[in-house]
Amino acid sequence: MTHYGTEMSRRLFLASTGATLAALHPFSARAQAGQAHLRIMETTDLHVHVWPYDYYGDRPVDTVGLARTAAHIADIRAEATNSMLIDNGDFLQGNPMGDYIAYERGMKAGDLHPVIAAMNAVGFDASTLGNHEFNYGLDFLEKTLARAEFPVVSANVVKERGSDPTKDTTLIKPYIILDRELTDGTGQTHPIRVGLIGFVPPQIMLWDRRHLEGNVTTRDIVETARAYVPEMREAGADIIIALSHSGIGSADETEGLENASVPLAAVDGIDALLTGHSHLVFPSPTYADYAAVDAEKGLIHGKPATMGGFWGSHLGVIDLMLEREGGEWRVVTSAVETRPISKRNEDRSVTALVESEQSVLDATQADHEATLDYVRRAVGKTAAPLHSYFALVADDPSVQIVSIAQKWYIAEMMKGTEYEGLPILSAAAPFKAGGRGGPDYYTDVPAGDVAIKNVADLYLYPNTVRAVKVTGAQVKDWLERSAGMFNQVTPGTQDQPLLNGEFPSYNFDVIDGVTYQIDLSQPSKYDPKGGPLNPDANRIVNLAYNGQPVTDDMEFVIATNNYRASGGGAFPGADGSTTIFEAPDTNRDVIVRYIVEQGTIEPAADANWSFAPLADTSVVFETGPKAADYVDQVKGAVIEPAGDGADGFALFRLKL
Ligand code: MN
Ligand code: MG
Repeated sequence: MTHYGTEMSRRLFLASTGATLAALHPFSARAQAGQAHLRIMETTDLHVHVWPYDYYGDRPVDTVGLARTAAHIADIRAEATNSMLIDNGDFLQGNPMGDYIAYERGMKAGDLHPVIAAMNAVGFDASTLGNHEFNYGLDFLEKTLARAEFPVVSANVVKERGSDPTKDTTLIKPYIILDRELTDGTGQTHPIRVGLIGFVPPQIMLWDRRHLEGNVTTRDIVETARAYVPEMREAGADIIIALSHSGIGSADETEGLENASVPLAAVDGIDALLTGHSHLVFPSPTYADYAAVDAEKGLIHGKPATMGGFWGSHLGVIDLMLEREGGEWRVVTSAVETRPISKRNEDRSVTALVESEQSVLDATQADHEATLDYVRRAVGKTAAPLHSYFALVADDPSVQIVSIAQKWYIAEMMKGTEYEGLPILSAAAPFKAGGRGGPDYYTDVPAGDVAIKNVADLYLYPNTVRAVKVTGAQVKDWLERSAGMFNQVTPGTQDQPLLNGEFPSYNFDVIDGVTYQIDLSQPSKYDPKGGPLNPDANRIVNLAYNGQPVTDDMEFVIATNNYRASGGGAFPGADGSTTIFEAPDTNRDVIVRYIVEQGTIEPAADANWSFAPLADTSVVFETGPKAADYVDQVKGAVIEPAGDGADGFALFRLKL
């Protein structure tokens, strides 16, 4: 009866969460003599998310945390006869708890990193390294791994190269063969040897060059797999699972592929794949059109594969039905599902689907509290106030700091590439600038201490950094697109409304590194969605780099984000085809790193853009009433209060 009741509530639970049918029929029930069901569970891209907590927002959330994923793990362990739990990398960096350990507490020999403490509490069979494991250097990583109570494997990070991958001296064990016991359908136990081999994108050499150059090199993922898998078979592995910290991408094998899971799946001898790095879910319709991929059944080249989202959002589950033949196990069938920890409702609210496992919280309670203290206290100083009250009408410190940090980061990433030496510009837009968010919806960090939680205020979205290569003509058109923010103004008239209410502030890119003026007497070249409006119009005037006019054929690198670079906002020169660098780091992480490394930041706006003067002309615009405190400090514009605006906004006048 009890079991029946549990099963019924599970059915209802699963029906309500949309989980697959496979979960309703544990394989073990159908396994016969000589057959056994093995359930492989995957977490991936945890990024130090242990507690269900958003440290930037300083509030609990239901969408993240290994403590939550662990509830699914406990469920599966209770229901499956044979199971293994594997983490697929990117556990060490990516939230303020990780930064707290790296930047504040440090790792001394013997220290226990909280994410390792959490993983030890859950009990993993193995893990691999993701690209972010290298963000804090090899010494930090080594000390971290020393306390892991599970093996960690990675085959393509090499200390000394041999004549082929199997002759390399790798940074850590390339693979491991775990001896386990399987209980078959009749309750008899048999030995099984499970081979696990790990892979990381070879691009870590670029992304973490400062930590890695001279210490390690990387090998191509597929090349490395082809070399090792036969050796693992020979060493007695019954089945081989690839721990691919790499996305599901092109089916074409090219040297050094970052997202190599599809060609990897084609390697003979690999039975199943754990994938990751892309922070997506597999199986899912996201991958419906990918070659060699069955996005419904969770197969790549016919082999079961999963990707368990990110930050603990999902548990990936691969069910293998194994059959023992001549003393060896082989995979006869499989099923793949993912189990989410929360669901988003139609009104965008979130419902938790599981509760936290207390043991995981207990293992990290002290570090969680230390992290709360860390995000709430000063980690740096700003010499100027960081506010966005005038971000749409003048060069502004809250946008400037984003551009400074992006440029600092991309300059490092371009070193040693074919793009080194090209001028680097940076594009950034004010995210919190009133509008539908209301009169209090502005960034407002006073001069003085900066806390980590303030950074969320400076950079609202979890975008990642990208660089595009553009021409001088494209730089100008990029700015023409931005200038659609403004209404056309008739010279010689007063108090004309400046801002086009249909134009979102996140599409008002300011480009740092060039100087320019916006001539409001001209019509906008583009409509608010980026379509052509007045193709011959020119609002951008006096566009210059280093004091010299920008010509159409000049070449520039622009630091921006993934949204813009891939066509978000339909900006000229940013349709995806011009991308030359895709960073693994979020813009927010780059800003945190910049502030921590600089100590005191000088975000003072440099007034690199302004409106072109128009005689005897003024415009009015609305902003938050607190703007009054800063009105005298705006550079490159003469602004005065002009009374109350609508809905709690304040009105200001700008003399052109
Ligand atoms: Mn990741
Ligand atoms: Mg990654």
